[in-house]
Amino acid sequence: MSTPEEGEVTGSSFARTATINVSDLTQYLFCPRLVYFRAKGYKRDRIVKGKERGMIERIILKELAFNLDTISGGEDEVGVGEREEGEDAKSIIEDIVDDIEWIYKEELKGVKRDLFEVVKRDIVCSMGTDEWLSKVRNGLLELEEAQGYEREHIVVSEKLGMSGSVDKLIRADEEVIPCVIKTGKCPEFSVWRSERVQLAAYAMLIEEEFETTVKRGFVEYIRTAEFRESRIRKKDRALALQILKRVKRIKRGAFPEKGVHAPCDTCSFIDRCETRKTLLSKLLGK
Ligand code: SF4
Repeated sequence: MSTPEEGEVTGSSFARTATINVSDLTQYLFCPRLVYFRAKGYKRDRIVKGKERGMIERIILKELAFNLDTISGGEDEVGVGEREEGEDAKSIIEDIVDDIEWIYKEELKGVKRDLFEVVKRDIVCSMGTDEWLSKVRNGLLELEEAQGYEREHIVVSEKLGMSGSVDKLIRADEEVIPCVIKTGKCPEFSVWRSERVQLAAYAMLIEEEFETTVKRGFVEYIRTAEFRESRIRKKDRALALQILKRVKRIKRGAFPEKGVHAPCDTCSFIDRCETRKTLLSKLLGK
């Protein structure tokens, strides 16, 4: 299977009126220049060389997070699943994982089949342990089971010029709660800063759609089955709005500084970034 062409151009100019996606805000926190190059229409490699395994893992873990009810034997979108004799959590996970190539066809284009099979097998072996399952049952599922959730709910605000897709939208009585799935490392306490910004952005979008106030959100760290609540604080809302304005400026053509912890060594824009820097230095006579 082939790797997509690096830096493939998909559009010729900056979008002038397009809404900003919440993912642009989290990308900005990674490195503002990623937002710039994407806005220019340059496609980032879907599969970074040497990082294929991590990409496949993230997809599989995310899909498992959408199927916690099924894994623990509860009710899912199509009702309570029929269990065959001897069928345990591992075989259910295997079943879910088998559907992944149909659901994530686009994302998995270019992935080598044998690598995909190896990662699938490793995930099935490592997940579904008694410890993981008990954490899922006692932490992640309680609220979801009680209230259910809507998968990948799209929220759009013309007023803010922003949109996004909330992984899980939980409605509990009067409350509407955004929940994001993370496949990376869980912090020791609370949630990471970029996740607070993401939740604050979703909160503002949800508030407009549902005419409510969103007071909290959740982050689901699926790898270790940790479920963290995060209050939506004023300072996170303010930060999300500040980043939104900066992203809008970048989309209008401003070339930003690189991020402090920019992941340059795995970035497929590295050549463009260097060329741009050299051009700027020449123009400024440096
Ligand atoms: S090469 Fe580094 S600075 Fe440039 S866009 Fe990529 S991560 Fe950002």
